[in-house]
Amino acid sequence: MVTAVLPGTLSPERRARALADVAGASVDVVVVGGGVTGAGVALDAASRGLSVVLLERTDLAAGTSRWSSKLVHGGLRYLAHGEIGLARESARERAVLMGSTAPHLVRRLPFLVPDEAGRDVTALAAAGGRLGDAVRMSVPGGRGSLPSTRRVAADEVSRLVPAVRPGRGGVVFWDAQLVDDARLVVALARTAAAFGARVLTGATVAAVDGADVHVSLAEGDAFSLRAGVVVNATGVWAQRLAPSIRLVPSRGSHLVVPGSVLGSPSAALTVPLPGSRSRYVFALPQADGLVHLGLTDEPVEGPVPDEHPVPSDTEVASLLEAVNQVLDRPLSRPDVVGSYAGLRPLVLPVSAGAGPRNATADLSRKHLLQWDGTVLSVVGGKLTTYRAMAEQTVDAVVVRLGRGVARSGTGRLPVVGAAPRPALARLTAPGRLVARYGTEAPVVEALGPAAVVAGRPETAGELRFAIRYEGARTVSDLLDRRTRFGLVPADRERAVPVAEQVLADEL
Ligand SMILES: Cc1cc2nc3c(=O)[nH]c(=O)nc-3n(C[C@H](O)[C@H](O)[C@H](O)COP(=O)(O)OP(=O)(O)OC[C@H]3O[C@@H](n4cnc5c(N)ncnc54)[C@H](O)[C@@H]3O)c2cc1C
Repeated sequence: MVTAVLPGTLSPERRARALADVAGASVDVVVVGGGVTGAGVALDAASRGLSVVLLERTDLAAGTSRWSSKLVHGGLRYLAHGEIGLARESARERAVLMGSTAPHLVRRLPFLVPDEAGRDVTALAAAGGRLGDAVRMSVPGGRGSLPSTRRVAADEVSRLVPAVRPGRGGVVFWDAQLVDDARLVVALARTAAAFGARVLTGATVAAVDGADVHVSLAEGDAFSLRAGVVVNATGVWAQRLAPSIRLVPSRGSHLVVPGSVLGSPSAALTVPLPGSRSRYVFALPQADGLVHLGLTDEPVEGPVPDEHPVPSDTEVASLLEAVNQVLDRPLSRPDVVGSYAGLRPLVLPVSAGAGPRNATADLSRKHLLQWDGTVLSVVGGKLTTYRAMAEQTVDAVVVRLGRGVARSGTGRLPVVGAAPRPALARLTAPGRLVARYGTEAPVVEALGPAAVVAGRPETAGELRFAIRYEGARTVSDLLDRRTRFGLVPADRERAVPVAEQVLADEL
């Protein structure tokens, strides 16, 4: 078996070595949670020279980080709420992701607001879009990164989203989209590993007792290690390690439809939720030809379950109703080939008394940093700003450790596979693989270009690559996170036997 040497390889052998090294060891930082927040913190800390162990109970991106809308957004919503600081931070981090950290994973996406949704709606969208443009121009790297907001005529509306009722114009503003949120998490974790972080999936932190961190493994074994600081990056599950944190989880749901039912759109159709002027439903075209229709905002009662959430019947109905306002041919349930939901880890402000149970849409998207003994929790925020959150977190860790280490350099640190756009354009591998794997695409292609199942673009090489280099250990790792077959259950079912065979061959 010929294996290329790639930075931060998470192979079965490396996992075994990491386990042997970590049990009973003493390290600077243990990061709990392998979502975008934990992976970002692990990278920031490891790249500053700290010794780091990242522990994830299931798999990289097993939690909320794979259920996002996949937007790297400039924070238009925050502008609507007057939160200029948050919007600037989003716009700055968007420019960092597009320009240096992960240009291969992020693409520009036009958003179409059709006049069919109401002239007052497009007038508001135009004003918001121009404000967003002004914020973008004010941040480093923002100028020239995206086109500006403009009005478009009826023929362009039909070209961008052919399914919109024809005859009227609209407004187009621009933002950015990740090809796959889970792939960003995997790339961050591997980059952290390239800086020496030990990354262990299938490793649940059962308890933290002072400096002692007790871990149970998926294999059934258990071990402990000692940490200077434990960073709790467990998202909506954060209260389990830090009971004083007050979270109000809110479910956000998306439906998955084939692009063909909307005429294969090239822009994100943007329609206000009936009765709202600040909340929108988006029909987001994906690179694989599907369209994700989202999203809702439903407060969730009671303890957060371990299983992933599912959209309710009411959410499905309200998403279809919202988008149907402007379509020539309304969508109906048989058009829906998949759905997914995630829980936002919204942090209840200290001032919020018992908490507004029905107003999570207006809770701040700011993140929380909170110490409880040796545990530093970092919760909330969003995918777009993971890097800034990670930098602040590690700044606090460094102060606590009393160590003179370098300042964060992650703003200029490409993740594995990243390269400037001209270099990506020169790669000879298929464009789809370049968008997902960047400079590593030729290695993926060489591992097998055949489709996993007919009618889907994913290749057998992607499954092999996931096992050899990206820490995948199970069918679900392969089909729900390294690739996204799981978003369309009928396709996933067809892919299971192939994934099982590849696992049997490789492990
Ligand atoms: C529906 C929806 C849409 C969104 N859309 C966007 C968007 O378009 N753009 C954007 O910027 N943001 C978006 N967000 C926000 C963003 O997705 C989240 O803020 C972010 O993904 C949270 O990441 P996290 O790493 O903090 O949490 P998670 O991704 O949930 O990671 C926590 C991890 O901790 C692990 N874990 C839990 N307990 C333990 C334990 N005891 N031991 C070990 N591991 C443990 C879990 O398995 C999980 O993998 C969206 C959120 C939702 C819900």
